[in-house]
Amino acid sequence: MTTELAVVGAAGRMGSAVLEAATERDGTTVVAAVVEPGSEVVGETLEPGEVTAIDDPTAAATAADVFVDFSAPEATVEVAEVSARTGTPLVSGTTGLTDTQRSTVDSAAERAPVLRASNFSVGVNLLDRLVALASQATDGGFDIEISEAHHRHKVDAPSGTALMLGETAADARGQSLAEVARWGREGEVGERTDEEIGFQVVRGGGIVGEHTVHLCGPDEKLELTHRSLDRSIFAQGALKAVEWIVDRPVGRYDMEDVLFG
Ligand code: NAD
Repeated sequence: MTTELAVVGAAGRMGSAVLEAATERDGTTVVAAVVEPGSEVVGETLEPGEVTAIDDPTAAATAADVFVDFSAPEATVEVAEVSARTGTPLVSGTTGLTDTQRSTVDSAAERAPVLRASNFSVGVNLLDRLVALASQATDGGFDIEISEAHHRHKVDAPSGTALMLGETAADARGQSLAEVARWGREGEVGERTDEEIGFQVVRGGGIVGEHTVHLCGPDEKLELTHRSLDRSIFAQGALKAVEWIVDRPVGRYDMEDVLFG
């Protein structure tokens, strides 16, 4: 059976990667390419896959089995509302959502299967598990810092993945990330506290995505690093999530469910 996809943000970097991955993968085909309203590509044929770009997610829902969304927070909220109305499953990788936007998307999971992941790669999801283990094992002696680097076009910072890793480290130590996060440092900042988890951000060039969790003890340092070499890893992961979610009941899922059950 072929799963028919509506790709939201189809003209973007990740949207294009999903179009490409879907044409190469057996069992998936793109039937709707949703782009930003007012975009000059509306009505044009997008490559690869030769799908006509439209700007109406409701029309896309009637054509497709599943939404795959890599767009912008406002668009993700709109698509989640369409999912809630139509029951169309949603796989979303868009990052930078506010708490309110995130809870709107999550509430769509009461009426449709919704899978949100700040990173669809196998490697980062494994890294997340290692971070939980390492943070717990080094509690009471090792300071945690998280650094990330991305291409110059990325609009949110720190990345959704860095925040996910921070949440994992904080949870493993019984902390709340909101209370211990330290967003960069500048000037006379004083000594770091034992509790804080610091975040540092690099933006430049074409870096696809790099994340390092630094666990710094008094006389030793552990670094856990993931480097994304190509966007296709996120697109392939998202398609794996599509295949996984298509027959699931209504509910909220994440990439851990897909990869680790
Ligand atoms: P991009 O800017 O290249 O593409 C985003 C696209 O969304 C643009 O073409 C934009 O016009 C479009 N868009 C905006 N509003 C829209 C609307 N209302 N309807 C339809 N399309 C709309 O960005 P990108 O690099 O492709 O990243 C997109 C998102 O995916 C970002 O939030 C990024 O952080 C995230 N991302 C997630 C993962 C992951 O694994 N979860 C990986 C890479 C990127």
